[in-house]
Amino acid sequence: MATRLESPVRDATQKSTFDAELEERLVRYARVDTQSDEASTATPSTERQFALLRLLQNELTSIGAHDVRVTDYAALLATIPATSSTAAPTIAFLAHVDTAPQFNATGVKPIVHRGYDGGDIILPDGPDVRLSPARYPYLAGKVGDDIITASGTTLLGADDKAGVAIVMTMARHLLENSGLSHGPIRICFTPDEEVGRGVDPRLPGDLNAHAAYTLDGAELGEIVYETFSADKAEVCVIGVSIHPGHAKDTLVNALHLAARIVDTLPQVTRTPETTTGRDGFIHLYQMKGTAAEAVLHFILRDFELDGLRSHAELLQQVCATVQATEPRARITCTITPQYRNMRYWLEQDMRPVELAREACRRLGIEPRSSPTRGGTDGSRLTEMGLPTPNLFTGMQNIHGPHEWISVQDMARATEMCVELAQLWSATSEPNAVR
Ligand SMILES: [Zn+2]
Repeated sequence: MATRLESPVRDATQKSTFDAELEERLVRYARVDTQSDEASTATPSTERQFALLRLLQNELTSIGAHDVRVTDYAALLATIPATSSTAAPTIAFLAHVDTAPQFNATGVKPIVHRGYDGGDIILPDGPDVRLSPARYPYLAGKVGDDIITASGTTLLGADDKAGVAIVMTMARHLLENSGLSHGPIRICFTPDEEVGRGVDPRLPGDLNAHAAYTLDGAELGEIVYETFSADKAEVCVIGVSIHPGHAKDTLVNALHLAARIVDTLPQVTRTPETTTGRDGFIHLYQMKGTAAEAVLHFILRDFELDGLRSHAELLQQVCATVQATEPRARITCTITPQYRNMRYWLEQDMRPVELAREACRRLGIEPRSSPTRGGTDGSRLTEMGLPTPNLFTGMQNIHGPHEWISVQDMARATEMCVELAQLWSATSEPNAVR
């Protein structure tokens, strides 16, 4: 890789020329309510996500991006044309516009705490919401940085508007600096990542890239290429309903049977609250019903397919056991695949990960990879043939009022993307990646 790489200028205080732009973009994007909704069947799940998609569409057009369009599955796509003379692989950068449904996202008031002094950050609208470096050790390392938070009653939405701001800033920078040598770059902003519907089956074809990166990770240097493999399970219990006054020897109470299923499942192992690291789990996250009928919703998670299968088998065995105690009931257990650990594909060609690591090292950032106990849009994309590791943005304490991010972490992520675009252009057309 002999190409000359140009890094943006950094001054003595380690502030980057990207800082002001990233701060302005994140603050502005965070104010737009883009919360997604799991219960909705529409695309995108909430109409309000279009507000940010259209704003970004206009901005991409005005900075000179090519092929700017919103697909009918509500993904915003654009191209930054190649500047390198040789045929370089096409690389895509993605971020999601929606914010998590788990916490209030209406009326977000971003606050910039300039030159963080190392003390507790107290938020004006939520006096009980305190960001303490003792509680959040990563914050302790950010003295001098500009920290962005919400005001105490909402999430911030740095997940993933930090990613959006980083990708937009990178795009603007590459378009303005034609001296930076890179291949074709595809930009993509997706809806509904937080409700697991960010990747339409048409997306890999529409991106038409050799490799992609989501900007949806956390700590400085984090490069994730290993996620959970995930299934969901729906257990349906149909009892026998009758007026309780005449129920003797007839009523089969679905709620009692549902409770027995829950009680028979492991509770001190294989649950989210009793596992960490590489251990998977069975998680009951919703249960509703009547004496006549009850439905239990589970997610099953594991890093290995054997483990995932064993969680499904255990759940099915428990259902069968409870069924055997009450033949008049009808208990069904339906398992549906959700996404798979991207490592299964990436370990066959680690170049997308290796180049991201190299980009970090060139900036003096030590890259680190630990398995993520969750999934990303990249999990689905990788499974569909487009290798898509997840890169850091700096976002912290996501999905709640304690969410915060360092502007300087975002700047390092932007620099990494600029480096990465150039590093890929120094590689040959990759046959092995697809
Ligand atoms: Zn996210």
